[in-house]
Amino acid sequence: MIRAVRGTRDLLPPETETWNFVEARARELFRVYNFQEIRTPILEDLQLFQRSVGEETDIVSKEMFAWEDRARAQSEKGQWLALRPENTAGVVRAYIEHKLWERPGLQRFYYIGPQFRRERPQKGRYRQFYQIGAEVIGPSAAGSESPVVDAELLEMLASLLDGLGIKGWTLELNSVGCANDRPIFLEALRNALKDVVGKICVDCQRRYETNPLRVLDCKVPEDQPIIEGLPKQSDYLDESCRTHFVEVQKVLTALGVPFVLNNRLVRGLDYYTRTAFEFTHGALGAQNAIIGGGRYDGLSESLGGPAAPGIGFAIGEDRLVMALQESGAVPVSVTDIYIAPLGAGMNIHAAVLARELRKQGIVITVGDETFRLKKSLETASKTGARYALILGENEVVSGQFALKNLATGEQVSVVRKEIFSNISSAARDPYSAEER
Ligand code: AMP
Repeated sequence: MIRAVRGTRDLLPPETETWNFVEARARELFRVYNFQEIRTPILEDLQLFQRSVGEETDIVSKEMFAWEDRARAQSEKGQWLALRPENTAGVVRAYIEHKLWERPGLQRFYYIGPQFRRERPQKGRYRQFYQIGAEVIGPSAAGSESPVVDAELLEMLASLLDGLGIKGWTLELNSVGCANDRPIFLEALRNALKDVVGKICVDCQRRYETNPLRVLDCKVPEDQPIIEGLPKQSDYLDESCRTHFVEVQKVLTALGVPFVLNNRLVRGLDYYTRTAFEFTHGALGAQNAIIGGGRYDGLSESLGGPAAPGIGFAIGEDRLVMALQESGAVPVSVTDIYIAPLGAGMNIHAAVLARELRKQGIVITVGDETFRLKKSLETASKTGARYALILGENEVVSGQFALKNLATGEQVSVVRKEIFSNISSAARDPYSAEER
């Protein structure tokens, strides 16, 4: 038997209903906040991620699915391709490639799609996973650096989680500084680490050499007392980063979005500046981050584009769906009416009636070929249908149909035109707000 590749999985119904529900809600929210969809290729030039996410990050150094593509001619070298591990780099590449800065104002994009990282699979961590993300990017003159942009993005996320009925989320907030203050902080960090490097975990010893900021993110329990004693980014912010961070917090407070400061929050990607954040959820265990994001004011320039400060986030859709399942509020799609034709001669009548009712938005399943009333009603109940409609000679001739409510057992006789109104008072739309 051929199985799905390690770390990948099939998403099956009925769970896919929850995925569609989440995506429909997200799209609706993006519309209200005036974000528009962007779709970038899953396949990109490996260099894109080396230059944005950073060569020393775990993502690029250890977790990429990358390979050298076949050369076109023998004399040529192949191009190195990669499955995207995240989508911000692709969006900023597209922003530069299509000169999107020439469009007026700030650009607000969102995307929904698969990402790939060769991580060790576990609950909530996959090699193919899905992100719903958004980016706000544009020239400074268009207001892209404003702390209000940061706060608005965070408020939108809080609204999404609240709107989905997800309880118990925490917004963790930090400022990771900028090109002005980062070198000074890094030097202080390196100095402090120099004395303790022999006592920290092997991974952190490597990070000390390659990317000391990541030491702050270490989860190894024995390292924690040492990490607590290290310098804090918040003590090294320059004046403009400090003011920016204070403003973000002020706006968030005014908007009523709760947050906690976490001065050890560093993100696993090099391009972040200033505001960095994560939304975590208590019920998810070790992989408790559902959303990650932050500013990337220098990213466009580092990819050869114009100055275009920006901020974005990525929601881990796999984990968001898990959080939703934890909260118990998952949508289910239900057959409204199971039409049970009593005899092969009724098949055509059933097909015609099904077409009529489906046009009215009623979810119809047409019964099987057993044509036995008892069996049909059993199947209808098993498949979770709300009503069964019995279709025999008599019904066709009289135009009166027996409609059985499978939950109550109650049966009524209705004319064709009244079928819709009879069931629609209780019609279910799994995406409607009332249902949740
Ligand atoms: P990042 O792109 O690393 O900032 O991650 C943003 C969000 O994507 C995280 O908070 C997770 O919810 C999700 N995520 C990242 N990596 C994985 C993975 N391997 N499997 C599932 N979700 C992931």
